[in-house]
Amino acid sequence: MERIIHKGIVAPWQPGEFAERVAAWQRRHGRHDLPWQGTRDPYHVWLSEIMLQQTQVQTVLAYYTRFVARFPTVQALAAAPLDDVLSLWSGLGYYARARHVHECAQVVANRYGGSFPRRADELERLPGIGKSTAAAIAAFCFDERAAILDGNVKRVLTRVFGLEGDLGRAVAQHALWQRAHGLLPPDSARESMPAYTQGLMDLGATICLRHAPRCAECPLADRCVAAVEGDPERYPRPRVRAAPRALSWWLLNAIDPAGRSWLVRRPAAGIWARLYCLPVFARRADLLAALPEALRAHAVDVARFKHGLTHRILDLCVVEVRFPAGMAPKSVGAWFDKAAWSELGLPAPVRRYLADQDNLFTPRPARGAA
Ligand code: SF4
Repeated sequence: MERIIHKGIVAPWQPGEFAERVAAWQRRHGRHDLPWQGTRDPYHVWLSEIMLQQTQVQTVLAYYTRFVARFPTVQALAAAPLDDVLSLWSGLGYYARARHVHECAQVVANRYGGSFPRRADELERLPGIGKSTAAAIAAFCFDERAAILDGNVKRVLTRVFGLEGDLGRAVAQHALWQRAHGLLPPDSARESMPAYTQGLMDLGATICLRHAPRCAECPLADRCVAAVEGDPERYPRPRVRAAPRALSWWLLNAIDPAGRSWLVRRPAAGIWARLYCLPVFARRADLLAALPEALRAHAVDVARFKHGLTHRILDLCVVEVRFPAGMAPKSVGAWFDKAAWSELGLPAPVRRYLADQDNLFTPRPARGAA
């Protein structure tokens, strides 16, 4: 590996030195007690890596434990109905991950006989597994010299090497991948791939924090351009992102005399795909038009709240309508009481709304309905 000299303000790294420091630090100071550590079972590593995407470790812990208890093997997960998977995933967000997890399990069970492929380039071809996740599985389970590059690792590398590029641009991403490959332990030390890979993750998650990085505890501090410059938070350069677009949705909370809510299944594509949900309408007028005429005058706006998605801000308005016995909304759905909807995969804000409102516990008669 060529020597890397960065900005002339810190000493250059010798070949293998960066990886050696990271792996040694991880063995001594890194995290060792997470439930998905201490295993080389690709099923567990894969599951944890997918759950950890865009989600904090503290949140993942409970979900991971429940998931593995319910689906102890990839075959068990593959054989489960998608609804069960979505239900267990409910609240973790980014539901495309849950659908991909289910689809990937089926591919592994049916095409690979229940054993995950061992190489990163093969793993990357499975549903929902990106380049960095494939590398993590191959490194942790099979000692492959494959580079990870998630958001935390990008932050560490841009700071250590003082990389100024706009990470929103393909050229900067490409350069970062090349850098990540160049820093891997040499082939003669491939047994240190798990410690090195975990070390990068741990540094990003616990030391090289987005705000107020703990440079005094960092094993890379004396060679870190950002630390030596004295302003680590300057890296990585903030990405210019388009502001998320606002979208207004009207949600119908139809309630029957038993206090049950009418839920429908979302379409297979788009926001909250295949989750159960209150019926959604683009306009209040559309919602009213979908009601039996006798009930339109009794629709009450009961709640309004915002919910952020990656590229959208949802402005959610809930309209409550009490239905008399024997009547139901026109949309294809069913009445669910709390015990039943608790078991379904629901979008987090809808679940919170249903849990907060008390109509399920205090059934009231329909108003004005004949
Ligand atoms: Fe991050 Fe500071 Fe370590 Fe540099 S020295 S990698 S800025 S924690």
